[in-house]
Amino acid sequence: MSETAPSAPAFTVPMNLSPSRVSSFTSCPMQFRFSSIQKLPEPPGVATTKGTIVHRALELLFVRPAADRTPAALDADLSTALAEYRVHPDYVGLQLDADAAAVFERDCSSLISRYFTMEDPTAVREIGLELWMSAEVGALTLRGIIDRLELDTDGGLVVTDYKTGRAPSGRYEQKSLAGVHFYAFLCHAVFGRIPTKIRLMYLQSGETIETVPSAQSVRFITTRTTAVWAAVERACATGDFRPRVSSLCDYCAFQRWCPSFDGNPDDAEVEARAAYDALLQGQPVAVGAR
Ligand code: SF4
Repeated sequence: MSETAPSAPAFTVPMNLSPSRVSSFTSCPMQFRFSSIQKLPEPPGVATTKGTIVHRALELLFVRPAADRTPAALDADLSTALAEYRVHPDYVGLQLDADAAAVFERDCSSLISRYFTMEDPTAVREIGLELWMSAEVGALTLRGIIDRLELDTDGGLVVTDYKTGRAPSGRYEQKSLAGVHFYAFLCHAVFGRIPTKIRLMYLQSGETIETVPSAQSVRFITTRTTAVWAAVERACATGDFRPRVSSLCDYCAFQRWCPSFDGNPDDAEVEARAAYDALLQGQPVAVGAR
């Protein structure tokens, strides 16, 4: 009796992902299929692009010698960052008119001016900016970017993450901190040291949330990622990525191709790319939501 050859996987398993992408599988496997397996482009969002530009301005500030990190210098760095992004798809795709562009720039200015109420940048001993790091968990390479890595007064590692969205309420604070333990995992994998502190700086409200990672929280990243990844591999083999309807659907760029909204996921491959190209050419198209 001849053996049946194993069928080819329905989707190729990705080998490089950020931890937020990995955990997005648990929020909605179908959304994960669109964004992380098929890698379909998503229209940029105002908040995300604003965050990217403010991160860039702060990176430029910390490239300067400590004594030169003044509010005027950060204003100049924001102008540089805005100029860099005016031709970037993440900005062009926003299709801002003159009034909306002015509001956008004013919001960026307000975020960076709040920064100076939160810390003194001349006292920061940074050792890395926008640091790309990666570490293996089984066959998967997890990668992430650390906004700023610095040394505290005792020589311990401190990870600082800038946030341009709202600070989480008490109920969601632990959830948001759970994500940043990944940075501790990366530092442990790359430098063999667990940071003494991880700081989230919320530039919109001026709040800073801090957490102290531990060997246990670092181990938990490996355990959780391994479990989620086994589920991703099963879904890739069977092609079974189920939609999980939640409040996130209101912001999902792929809603029009989602079976839970009477869409056909197989149309997304061509249509999502065409819609994104049209958006960048300035055509007023609805890219995601119906
Ligand atoms: S619309 Fe909702 S259920 Fe459908 S893919 Fe998006 S997040 Fe998932």
